[in-house]
Amino acid sequence: MGGSDEVDGGGRNDAEEGAAAAARVEEGGREMCWDGCGRPVSVCVCAHLPAQPIPTSTTIIVLHHPHALRRNPLSTLPLLSRSLLRCHTLPGRRLRLGSHFLLDSLYRNATDRPSAVFLFPGGRDLSLFATESGPLPSALVVFDGTWRQAKEMAAASAPFLERFAVRVSLGGYDPGVEGPSTFESELVLRKEPFQGCVSTMEAVARALRVMEPSGKGAEVEGALLLLLRAMVGFQARHLHPTKPRTKLKKKKEIMAEMVAAGKTNEKKGAAEEQNLQLLCS
Ligand SMILES: [Zn+2]
Repeated sequence: MGGSDEVDGGGRNDAEEGAAAAARVEEGGREMCWDGCGRPVSVCVCAHLPAQPIPTSTTIIVLHHPHALRRNPLSTLPLLSRSLLRCHTLPGRRLRLGSHFLLDSLYRNATDRPSAVFLFPGGRDLSLFATESGPLPSALVVFDGTWRQAKEMAAASAPFLERFAVRVSLGGYDPGVEGPSTFESELVLRKEPFQGCVSTMEAVARALRVMEPSGKGAEVEGALLLLLRAMVGFQARHLHPTKPRTKLKKKKEIMAEMVAAGKTNEKKGAAEEQNLQLLCS
C-alpha cells in the first residue's frame, strides 16, 4: 500500500492502455494490475475508477497508521487517493506541526472560526454543522487504520488539531450496536465493529457530499461509492461464493426459536454445544 508517493492521485497515467500491458506476474503467481488499480487482475476495478482524478474544493488529508503500510487488499485508501486530485496520504501515528504544510499553515493562522474538520465518531454532526456554521472549512482530516488505531491516532492528534479544526461525525454511530458485515451492506468490505463505522472511502465520500460547494458533492460521492461497490462486490463473492447472507445468531435467539418450535426436549448439553457453533442464514 502506498504512502506519500500517492499524494495528489498520481501514478495512474495511461491506465487504460497500460493496465493490460503492465499486468505482470507477482511473486506469488498472481497477475497484478500495477499500472491501473494496483489490485490482482482477477479483481481489477479499473473500469470503475474515475477517468481522471476528481478535482475537489476540499483538500483531504488522510493519516494512515504505519502498520497499514503492508499491502492490505481490503484497504480503500490506495484507490481513494487515485480517485481524488487533492487527497494527501500521510503515514504516521499522530498529526503535529511538520506533518503537512497545509495543516501547519492552518495551525499558525488559527482563529475562532475552524478552518478544518476532522472526522471521528462522537463529533458534531457534519450536516448540522454545515447548516449552522455557513460555509464549511475546505480541509478534511481523516484517520485510516483499525478502529483501535484510528482511536489512538485521533486522541494523539487532538491537541494539535483542536487549535484550528472541529471534530465532526457522519451520524449513525452507535458503539452499542454491532456493525454490519460484507453480506449485509453493499458498501462494507469487512465486518465493522460498531454501527456507523465505515471504510475510509465511504467516510470521505459522505463527508464530501456535505462539504463540496455548489452541489458538486453528490457527484463526487456517487463516483467514490460506485468504486466501493465494485470492491465490495468482488470481496463478497470471494468470501462466500455460494451462500448468501449469513449471520451468527445469538444463543438466546436460537433457544427462543427452539422453544417456539417445541424442540425443548432435546438433551440440553448437546443442544447448547450445537447452538454455539450454529451459523444460520
Ligand atoms: Zn485494474
